[in-house]
Amino acid sequence: MPNTAPADDQDLDDLCGVLVADRDEDGPTTYECRALVRHTNSGYSCARGHAHTYAEVRASEGWDYASDPVEAEILAQSGVIGVRADGHPWA
Ligand SMILES: [Zn+2]
Repeated sequence: MPNTAPADDQDLDDLCGVLVADRDEDGPTTYECRALVRHTNSGYSCARGHAHTYAEVRASEGWDYASDPVEAEILAQSGVIGVRADGHPWA
């Protein structure tokens, strides 16, 4: 398996699956981050700064992930803060 990760005993669950927007010769594209992930009690974060928080923790803290401003608005109507994949709120 071609892989530049330093540790080859990591399984796929330990690689960041966040889609990153980029450009190549064909124009806009996305790719999986695939940086090594560090697990914590509330979720996990990768070496490039992406973070994922478990659903039960999000619910207890009153926020959830929203993929766009429309979804964030729907969450807001329920009193839930919509947060982008990078961890910053939409509004
Ligand atoms: Zn990442």
